[in-house]
Amino acid sequence: MSAYASEDQEVDVMYGLQNVLTQIQAAVARRAKDLPQITPRLVAVSKIKPAALIVQAYEAGQRHFGENYVNELADKAIDPLILESCKDIKWHFIGHLQTNKINKLLGSPGLFMVQTVHSDKLADNLNKQWLKFRKGDEKLKVMVQINTSGEEAKNGVPPLEATNLSQHVINHCPNLEYVGLMTIGQYDYDVSQGPNPDFISLAKCRQEVCNNLNLDINNVELSMGMSTDYEHAIELGATTIRVGSTIFGARPPKQAKTN
Ligand SMILES: *Cc1c(COP(=O)(O)O)cnc(C)c1O
Repeated sequence: MSAYASEDQEVDVMYGLQNVLTQIQAAVARRAKDLPQITPRLVAVSKIKPAALIVQAYEAGQRHFGENYVNELADKAIDPLILESCKDIKWHFIGHLQTNKINKLLGSPGLFMVQTVHSDKLADNLNKQWLKFRKGDEKLKVMVQINTSGEEAKNGVPPLEATNLSQHVINHCPNLEYVGLMTIGQYDYDVSQGPNPDFISLAKCRQEVCNNLNLDINNVELSMGMSTDYEHAIELGATTIRVGSTIFGARPPKQAKTN
């Protein structure tokens, strides 16, 4: 039995997934036409959920999965069930990355992207260590994490530093591929108050980064939106959404960190 098989609840992963995919399409149709018309990439966030549910989602066609603890991603990435059944799985790391966990993360089979680069130093470390793990001259895809809500508990650089950190990745980290910007933002924002300010802020950061660094906005992604607000995020320009509980069922209340 997997260490992540929490209290078993009946969830219909295929139904949850289909539902989210339908809502994504509807939200794309409502997205402002002056925004890049990039089809959003759904990252299914499988934290705390057992390998068996990941396999179910994979068999329903899902390929991108997200985890926010290095140990959990690393364990699942080498779980025999997943290695056997999910040969084309693409893992996204979406949590806080500590320097001492970099090698463990980079050594995980199927690692596709690190969405949470929050400092020059972390970018430099990833750039250096990736040489040991990459296949051929494939670059490691990364996003720069922005703390759009300014909450102390959240990681990421302030919006004003989005250009500097992006520039650092692009100019000084030849083994990394700059993909775009990611935010977590405030939880439980009440959308009846107007467009989510975190999403507006991240979209504005992208515009500034593109202006300052002469990048094509169609090539710079925005990772924002979770179960409660991914449709709204897409309307405001999200190109990557990270959805957990709507697909895999609710998680038990947050416990103390174990890694
Ligand atoms: C858990 C998590 C998600 C998904 O949250 P849900 O509300 O379950 O959709 C998205 N992004 C990050 C960074 C997370 O840690």
